Amino acid sequence: MLLGIDDTDSPSGMCTTYLGALLARRLIKMHMPVLEVRLLRLNPNVIYKTRGNAAICLEVEGDTDRVFETACEMVAGLAHFSHENTNPGVVAVENRPPPDFYRKAVRDFCTIEEAVAVLGAAGARYKGFKNGRGLIGATAAVCSDLPDMTFEYLTYRNSNAFGTPRSVDRESLFDAESSTFPHTWDTVDIENNCVVCVPHTPDPVLFGIRGESPSWVAFARMQVNSEATEVEQIFVTNQGTDAHLVDGETGALTEGCSYRVTGTVCSHAQTGRGGHVSIEIGNGDMVTRCMAYEPTKGFRNVLRALWPGDRVLVTGSYKGGSINLEKVCIITLSPAGTTRPPVCPSCGARMTSAGSLKGYKCRKCGAHEKEPQVTLHDRTIAPGWYEVPPVARRHLVKPLCRGP
Ligand code: ATP
Repeated sequence: MLLGIDDTDSPSGMCTTYLGALLARRLIKMHMPVLEVRLLRLNPNVIYKTRGNAAICLEVEGDTDRVFETACEMVAGLAHFSHENTNPGVVAVENRPPPDFYRKAVRDFCTIEEAVAVLGAAGARYKGFKNGRGLIGATAAVCSDLPDMTFEYLTYRNSNAFGTPRSVDRESLFDAESSTFPHTWDTVDIENNCVVCVPHTPDPVLFGIRGESPSWVAFARMQVNSEATEVEQIFVTNQGTDAHLVDGETGALTEGCSYRVTGTVCSHAQTGRGGHVSIEIGNGDMVTRCMAYEPTKGFRNVLRALWPGDRVLVTGSYKGGSINLEKVCIITLSPAGTTRPPVCPSCGARMTSAGSLKGYKCRKCGAHEKEPQVTLHDRTIAPGWYEVPPVARRHLVKPLCRGP
C-alpha cells in the first residue's frame, strides 16, 4: 500500500520528511516492512509552502487501515497545528493512482476538490486536518511517477537540540563533496566558499546529501563529522530532475509555472537595485523578461555577457512577469558588433548620417556611403549551458553535473 503525508510543519519547526522517517521506523517495529520512502517536491511557486513544498510517500507491506491509523495518530501528535498554514493531509491507497494529479501538482496549481476526486476514484482512505490543504500534496505523493529520480540522505538532530545552532564540521563537508562529486552535488558551493546542505531554520534536519544513488549519498555521509543524530533516512526523490519544467513560448507564460523557453536576446542586460540583473528575450513581438537575482552571484555575469541577437534557451519559474532564471543554454552567439558612421574613402574624414535610411555623407568632400563601419567584438562567453550556483539552486532544478 502507499501512504502520502503533507503539510505538518510550520516556520518554527517540524518537517514532513522527519515525520516520515519516524513513521517508517514505527511501522517496521509493528512488523510492516517499508519498501521505499519517497520525498516529492511540488510546484515551488505555491504560496502556502513553509519551505521547499515537500510531500512524502511511503510504500508499505501491511494492512492499509492499520498503516493509515498509525500515520494519522503520528500526525495528530507531531504536526504544528497551532500555525494557521499547517493543514495536514494523510492518504492511504492500495494501488498507485494515475500520475496526472502528481504531474499537475509539480507543474501547476491544484485544488482540494481535485485531490478528493482523485482519492474517491482510487478508493483511498484519507483525512484532512483543519482546512485539509495537505491532501493536495499527500495525494500528489501517492500518485507520483518518477521517470527520473535522485536520492537524498537526510540526517535529523536529537530532539533536545532542536532550535540550537547546528554543529557540522565544515571541512568534512568539503571533503565529502570533493571525493564524491559529480555523483553527489550541492553539499557545498566551492565557487562561493559556503556550505549548502545544512539548513539555518529551526527544523529537525541536521544536513542532507543529494546524489545519484543510495550508495553514493551514503558514502558521502560517512565522511561528515557532526553532532549526534537521532534518525537518518535515505529518500528516493524527484529533486534535481527538472520535473517542474514544461515547454513555453515568450509572451505566453502563466504566472507560477516553470518553463523551458527559447528566444533571441533583445537588448543588453540591465543591473537594477540590489544587484539584480535582467535581460529580455523574444521571438518577433513576443518578448519576455528574464531575471537573475543577487543570490545567483556569478551567474549574473552570464547575462551580462549576452548580446542582442544571441539565441538562448532559458529555464525557470515565471513569477511577477519575469522568468526567474535557473539555467541558460547559449545556442548561438550573434556576431556582436558596434556600428558607427564610416570614414570617407575619398578624404578620410568621419562621415555623418545623410538622414533616415539614406546612408552616410561626407560633409568635407560630399562623398556618399551606404553602409556603416562595423567593429566586431570578441565574445567573452561560449555557447553551452550555464547554471546558478549550488547556493542558489532550487530543489527541483537538475544540476548540469547530471546532464543538460
Ligand atoms: P512540509 O515539510 O510541511 O511539507 P513545505 O514547505 O513542504 O513543508 P507545506 O507546509 O507542505 O510546505 O505547504 C504546502 C501546501 O501547499 C500543502 O498544503 C500542499 O498540499 C499544498 N500544495 C502543494 N502543491 C500544490 C499545488 N501544486 N497546488 C496547490 N496546493 C499545493
